[in-house]
Amino acid sequence: MTPRVLIAQFMHETNTFSKLKTTLDDYRRRWLIEGDEIVPRFKGTRNEVGGYIDQAAKFGWEPVYAVAANATPSGMLTRETWETIRDSIVGTARMAGKLDAVCLSLHGAMVTETEDDAEGALLEALRGVIGPDVPMVATLDLHANATLRMARNVNALVSFRTYPHIDGYDRAVQAAALVQEALEGRKTPRCLLSQPAMLEGADHGRTTQPGVMRDLLARADEYEKEPGINVVSIQVGFTWSDIPYTGPSIAVSYEPPAEVRAREIARSMIDEMWRRRDEMSADYRSVADGVSAARARRDEGDKVGPLVIADGTDNPGGGGYNDTTPVLQALLDAGIRNAAVGTIYDPGTVQQAMAAGVGAEIDVDLGGHTDETMGRPVRARALVKMLSDGVFRNDGPMNAGVESNMGPTAVLRIEGIDVVTISNRIQTTDLQVFLSQGIDPRAKDVLVVKSVQHFRAAYAPIAREIVLVDSGGICSPDISRLKFTKLRRPIWPLDGVNDPYAGTRPA
Ligand SMILES: [Zn+2]
Repeated sequence: MTPRVLIAQFMHETNTFSKLKTTLDDYRRRWLIEGDEIVPRFKGTRNEVGGYIDQAAKFGWEPVYAVAANATPSGMLTRETWETIRDSIVGTARMAGKLDAVCLSLHGAMVTETEDDAEGALLEALRGVIGPDVPMVATLDLHANATLRMARNVNALVSFRTYPHIDGYDRAVQAAALVQEALEGRKTPRCLLSQPAMLEGADHGRTTQPGVMRDLLARADEYEKEPGINVVSIQVGFTWSDIPYTGPSIAVSYEPPAEVRAREIARSMIDEMWRRRDEMSADYRSVADGVSAARARRDEGDKVGPLVIADGTDNPGGGGYNDTTPVLQALLDAGIRNAAVGTIYDPGTVQQAMAAGVGAEIDVDLGGHTDETMGRPVRARALVKMLSDGVFRNDGPMNAGVESNMGPTAVLRIEGIDVVTISNRIQTTDLQVFLSQGIDPRAKDVLVVKSVQHFRAAYAPIAREIVLVDSGGICSPDISRLKFTKLRRPIWPLDGVNDPYAGTRPA
């Protein structure tokens, strides 16, 4: 008999410190796709949905497509947004009749106006519909703030093992393979979760250089070879979220006879994460340091290519406003030429440019509109170089083949700097942010990207040097600046904790 398998995606990384609520329109700007429309959009792409589509075909499942929903990280989902998408997924499950399995693509750090643990609530609602014995798996971003409620309601949590995240497809393949084994009666997986009294850990999950995260992943790979151990996932947490559950965790999917061993594994992973808790590799520099690097002559040394300045604290991939101006203003003040900025969110200025047309010169107040305490608008005369709808297809390595939409977009040249000015917030992860706008990133002396780590997948290979700067955006690495009110306490490093198992874990 052909297994009927519900496939759905509902993703959001919520920065509860953002003043911008996340709406249905924010989802529509990235994607909010229902039913069988999901297939043409994602078949052949390298994200989790692309992975599930291929595995459903491979295993001969009858897929039941609910929703694929993803929005750029920002503040809490409005109640309407959360309930609409949740009800669409749960409603599809209810209407589907008999389901044999559920495969989900989630983030794990979604917060709404009414739910601190949105994925836990979604999984619990789905479990209520499908009953206790139907296998349900979920892929997670490795920046998930995973919860006991999530683990209780799934048979496996399968988190990304790369940062930049380039393995979404592979994780869906892994999750679907486990579902197939359960459907064949060869597995009856259960999932447990352990979370230490830590707010941060494992170097935020960076896998671009040797270090604690790569070592933990190597141990996880070894554990997964043991009989009875299905999946060992490391979630490093998403710090900018004022909920009880913020921070790293270990999820183990296991066969019931191996429960004791699964708990031992989770504990040993937590112990190692705790022992190496001070290992943090992100080297945030000042904006002035970024400008100094930009002033250095391009042909110095044997390295070629652009200097990449990563404006990490305004990273829209972590909920940054995508419109802060200190880096652009400093480059203009320093007279830097042959540079490109990708991107500044400013739909009003885009409309102004569209009204004026290509080739016009306009006076702009560019960016800095969301929160002027993070840098005032750049007042300048700008040449409108190019106008477009801002749609492009990612070349990868991240999200290869997936369509992205910057909304109406204007390339503005201010002195010697091309600014990709956009209407939908989007992290700079792909070279097409520039290439699709007629800018060759390899030919620039300086590139500014709004990203903290994901840009490295595409930009490290072309960069002569990378400087990560703290320009004062909301994704500050200085956690003492974050005002937590709901976080479980005590917690390292905010409190005097000397045991990773201190305090109690909220259920
Ligand atoms: Zn992530």
